[in-house]
Amino acid sequence: MVDPNANNLNEIQAQWATVRGRIRQKIGDAQFKSWIKVISLQDFIDSKVILSVPSNFVRTRIIEQYLDIIKSYWLVQNLKINDIEIVVSKVSKSKDTEISYEKKSITAQNKDSKQEDIFSSISSDLDSRFTFSNFIVGKPNELAFAAARRVAESVDVPFNPLFLYGGVGLGKTHLMHAIAHEIKERKPLRRVIYMSAEKFMYYFIKALRFKNTVAFKEQFRNVDVLMIDDVQFISGKDSTQEEFFHTFNALIDQNKQLIISADKSPQDLEGIEERMRSRLGWGLVADIHPLTYELRLGILQAKEERLSSRISPNILEFLAHKITSNVRELEGALNRLSAFSSLVGRDINLDMVQDLLKDLLKSSQRKVNIEEIQKKVSQHFNVKMSDMSSARRSRTIARPRQIAMYLSKNLTSRSLPEIGRRFGNRDHTTVIHAVKKVEELRSKDNSFDEDVQLLIRMLES
Ligand code: ADP
Ligand code: MG
Repeated sequence: MVDPNANNLNEIQAQWATVRGRIRQKIGDAQFKSWIKVISLQDFIDSKVILSVPSNFVRTRIIEQYLDIIKSYWLVQNLKINDIEIVVSKVSKSKDTEISYEKKSITAQNKDSKQEDIFSSISSDLDSRFTFSNFIVGKPNELAFAAARRVAESVDVPFNPLFLYGGVGLGKTHLMHAIAHEIKERKPLRRVIYMSAEKFMYYFIKALRFKNTVAFKEQFRNVDVLMIDDVQFISGKDSTQEEFFHTFNALIDQNKQLIISADKSPQDLEGIEERMRSRLGWGLVADIHPLTYELRLGILQAKEERLSSRISPNILEFLAHKITSNVRELEGALNRLSAFSSLVGRDINLDMVQDLLKDLLKSSQRKVNIEEIQKKVSQHFNVKMSDMSSARRSRTIARPRQIAMYLSKNLTSRSLPEIGRRFGNRDHTTVIHAVKKVEELRSKDNSFDEDVQLLIRMLES
């Protein structure tokens, strides 16, 4: 298996070759030749793979029929892949035409066709699976969900802007896409634009360069709802912030519904001007909290039902316990298991899970530090925290101290001398001695071993 952290284009290329091979095995040569062979790897940016195909027709077919398996096979190779985008290659193969294409597009920009640029790229940005009905609601996200629904269902502008924030992979983008889908369904004539902040900035800076920000703003005149995702990426870019602020104000003044997402609250956004910050907080600010166990399990159950991938309830519970960081990692884990189970054609057991998800389970394990270990151990054995570094050598104190050293060695990445230092400036040989002693006792004495296991479990959960 390829290193899951790998992300340079060569490695991505190698992974793509493997993915293609697997798909070929699965769907057979004929299908492979018609649909998969024509796909080429175009780029890899920000954990997103970009594949290109020769026509829109092929693109649609691939998205409908093959994108999911491409994704799941790829995830088996590399969990860092967040998304796969299929684009239609515009440029023809010969270098000459490539250049003239470039030239043409620049002259076009100097005139007034930039509208086309922005608006043509929008609907392709929407993920059809990110709907309200696919969104599982629980305590941590109920406010954000309710606010999103409200905006999608209202004819007027209930609050402006709606500011959604929360950590990575907690569903901000999902909710924004859901709003867009819902509005499309209910009020097809309302014009909705969804854009990443980066894309917004990109067009915006282009407009600045060609000195037509007026035209840029003009484009939003007949937009009813504008969504800008991950606005933290705008912060810091001083020269453009000012203009952005004006555009933003103008839109609100024209009663356009704005929906903004970020990884932090307006107050905590860094590198953003004060008045911008306060204006962002004017409407409704709704945050998504870290997910609870119940919500994680709920999401896994819903996804598993859709995948129908024969993953048993106890494994879902195990994942919900172990993978606490965000939904993206949960999904990644589930996709990987389901891809594996369909590849090998049998059910998954817990051993296989541990093995398949080794990297994920490790990274989501809580990191403990020496101080926490000392605290837990002294509480457990009812000794003073200060005795962890004192010179006292009676067994009732020395033994817990040795256990704490042992745990520090095994649960943290600290070196032996560093551990010694943290236990009252002891020598690293003392730490080695403690580790050996505890290992020996664990193998001989059952109740001692249980004590240590219990401590480990408490420290890691
Ligand atoms: P963010 O934009 O906050 O980083 P995303 O919206 O991209 O996160 O969500 C990451 C993944 O998790 C997406 O595939 C999304 O569908 C899924 N997801 C997040 N929250 C939920 C939820 N409450 N119910 C179902 N899927 C969710
Ligand atoms: Mg997002």
